[in-house]
Amino acid sequence: MEYKNYMEVIVEEKMDEVLAQYPQCCKCEQCRHDIAVIALNNLHPRYVSTEKGQLFARIQEMNSQSEIEVLRQLMTAVEIVSANPRHS
Ligand SMILES: [Zn+2]
Repeated sequence: MEYKNYMEVIVEEKMDEVLAQYPQCCKCEQCRHDIAVIALNNLHPRYVSTEKGQLFARIQEMNSQSEIEVLRQLMTAVEIVSANPRHS
């Protein structure tokens, strides 16, 4: 039985959409990674079983409230990272 934090899936999915709204934000691997980590730490994890097609089923169940929360946390994370990138 495998499991995955479904929030990681949505954060990855929404990352480009959010970054597109911040043209000044660096989009390198390190910054994207930092943004994802900050956002995920501020979101409640949602573990789902990834056993045979179940992940897809659970994705369909996700309500739009969770999606809005992910977008909100991603925007906050983008602002934090673009203000203090860990590289010059
Ligand atoms: Zn960067």
